[in-house]
Amino acid sequence: MQFDTRAIHDGQPPDPSTGAVTVPIYQTSTYVQEAVGQLKDGYDYSRTANPTRRALETCLASLESAEHGFAFASGMAATTTVMHLVSPGDLVVSVNDVYGGTYRLFSKVYEPRGVRFSYVSADQCNTGLERHLDGAKMLWLESPTNPLLNVVDIASAAAAAHAAGALLVVDNTFATPYLQRPIELGADIVVHSATKYLGGHSDLVSGFAATSDDALGQRLAFLQNSLGAVAGPFDSWLVLRGLKTLPVRMRQHCENARAVVGFLGGHPAVTRVLYPGLVDHPGHEIAARQMRDYGGMISFLVDDERQARDAVARTRVWSLAESLGGVESLIETPAQMTHSSTADAPFATPPNLVRLSVGIESADDLIEDLEQALA
Ligand SMILES: *Cc1c(COP(=O)(O)O)cnc(C)c1O
Repeated sequence: MQFDTRAIHDGQPPDPSTGAVTVPIYQTSTYVQEAVGQLKDGYDYSRTANPTRRALETCLASLESAEHGFAFASGMAATTTVMHLVSPGDLVVSVNDVYGGTYRLFSKVYEPRGVRFSYVSADQCNTGLERHLDGAKMLWLESPTNPLLNVVDIASAAAAAHAAGALLVVDNTFATPYLQRPIELGADIVVHSATKYLGGHSDLVSGFAATSDDALGQRLAFLQNSLGAVAGPFDSWLVLRGLKTLPVRMRQHCENARAVVGFLGGHPAVTRVLYPGLVDHPGHEIAARQMRDYGGMISFLVDDERQARDAVARTRVWSLAESLGGVESLIETPAQMTHSSTADAPFATPPNLVRLSVGIESADDLIEDLEQALA
């Protein structure tokens, strides 16, 4: 079945006891056993498994073309759980402009515990990545990256990772499975902050990981249950509800982003627009190959930090806030906000960068508001 149909139905048959069309919120910690060890549908305790969470895991795994899906309390909980696949002494190679919180987890939590990290630019990923993977256990990618919208060729990165004996993990938060499916391109594991486009309404914090490898799936199930950072039933239900409109929302996010990019490109206060849909973007050809469309995230540079701070404080339709991927448009300066944790990194975010999460309001209103904010 097509993606749009699976987003609404996969993992969600009508409730067998009542016929309810929507999966109920199974707000329960435990399940009655008929006799010791005789479980109904395999449920014994909600950290291990919960029917609402399972519906989400089934649906989202299907959308990512993965066999096994796992829902977590946050994107960082998903990342933490996946990072338990490596041990002290192991080398993790990561693209350098990763999400600030991911960089903080790597540099301030895992590095002090003995995991080794090295960072490569998107450009280095796309030209001779093999040279950087010697002895690596894991390659960690985002594409498009946050906040610079660099694009990494996932299929060739997968080939390079596998030749080096490393696992490829792709954080697919920016693209969503509607626009890009890393597992189909050869990635071993895909992770998400479901807080963003998957939930889509800025009303929850959640995370997700998926794989099609049975052994990795078994290990992740074990780690999910052992570490315990699971998604609760209500948050699972909210993400399930968000997924039903993911395709229509993404189409509108992309269409609005195109209009906003067109406006920014002609604005005298804007020195550069970073958007993979632009033909002069260095990753445009790769993005055209591996993505259905170019997404709702745009970054742009203005002359200096002062101008960036002034512009984001003046918008009325765009809210000055961290996060992204909701129906409402958000604006921020990554260097001072989402990515302040990379300030001491060699690849710190430029202070004159503005990041937009383009919502699904009227594009005319969004452009008019940017026009007065940049004036
Ligand atoms: C937000 C985000 C995360 C972290 O997810 P949380 O749900 O906030 O824990 C990870 N990766 C990317 C790309 C993000 O945007």
